[in-house]
Amino acid sequence: MKVVRVVGYHQDLQLDEAPEPEITSAMDVIVKIGAAGVCRTDLHILEGQWAEKSQVQLPYTIGHENAGWVHAVGDGVTHVAVGDKVIMHPLITCGLCPACRFGDDVHCENNEFPGIDTDGGYAEYLKTGARSVIKLDDSLEPVDVAALADAGLTAYHAVAKAARVLRPGNVVVMIGAGGLGHIGIQVMKAISGATLLVTDRNPAALALAEELGADHTVQSDEQGSHIARILELTGGKGAEAVIDFVAEGGSTAQGVQFLRRSGNYYVVGYGENLDIPTIDIISSEINFIGNLVGSYNDLAELMVLAAQGKVKLHTTVYKLDEFQQAIDDLSAGQVRGRAILVP
Ligand SMILES: [Zn+2]
Ligand SMILES: [Zn+2]
Repeated sequence: MKVVRVVGYHQDLQLDEAPEPEITSAMDVIVKIGAAGVCRTDLHILEGQWAEKSQVQLPYTIGHENAGWVHAVGDGVTHVAVGDKVIMHPLITCGLCPACRFGDDVHCENNEFPGIDTDGGYAEYLKTGARSVIKLDDSLEPVDVAALADAGLTAYHAVAKAARVLRPGNVVVMIGAGGLGHIGIQVMKAISGATLLVTDRNPAALALAEELGADHTVQSDEQGSHIARILELTGGKGAEAVIDFVAEGGSTAQGVQFLRRSGNYYVVGYGENLDIPTIDIISSEINFIGNLVGSYNDLAELMVLAAQGKVKLHTTVYKLDEFQQAIDDLSAGQVRGRAILVP
């Protein structure tokens, strides 16, 4: 089968032939890939940023946002059948460790992560586990939802966590209305009565945020001239929650300034350091909450919202062998929504 592989860091990806994966255990599922999302993490992988963390042996096939059709199943698999449309939770998990038993798939002690530390979905077929596949509603197609497997799941996980403690009338500020943010906006409007305020430096992103239901949008800049406007929109008190999809270019230092006393700061993007005087943390009882991808149940819930038409992904589709164009476009910031590869 055709695969797109990492053959070396700081080198271009390479189109190769590789053997199709085979069922080797009772709970294996092989999926015929219908679509694979192209993610900023793929760029970071090529820059070698994940090399030490993942310990992956090169060459290997990347692509961690995958959906398709069940192609083969092991003897123990009963909840999906050949031909079913599925989206894959990004991790293959054991189901037996304490984290798995809490439903906290992302922290499985025995996980494999296709596309990161084992072969992923820039390919015609991918092997995963029975615990990782979610059957899609008839109304959804792999190409429409593949990128929800990571970007969407990450946004859902953080937004749903925030929504569980937000009350109608509370204010939530989202920083960033790009790939993750535009999903986060839709999720927040679908599951919460909180007032949603969105900031971004890019006016086009803010226009999309408004289209998707943001209650207020405020253009941000490096000087922080938007901070006063946001405080004004929160009655001078600040927001109960800030969800930071950016965490670069000073967004965190700015974001903390519009957090209310005892508010929650959800960190989703990453890049810069937090530099907050501890006296401010204790005197105002503010909380900083990390977010990493999401659980199987988070993804199943997100698929419900997608099937209800409440969450839609903006995508640009490329053929698998146009992978280099997709990577180049993403890297140049020229992809509207998410880039998707189809075999
Ligand atoms: Zn991703
Ligand atoms: Zn586990």
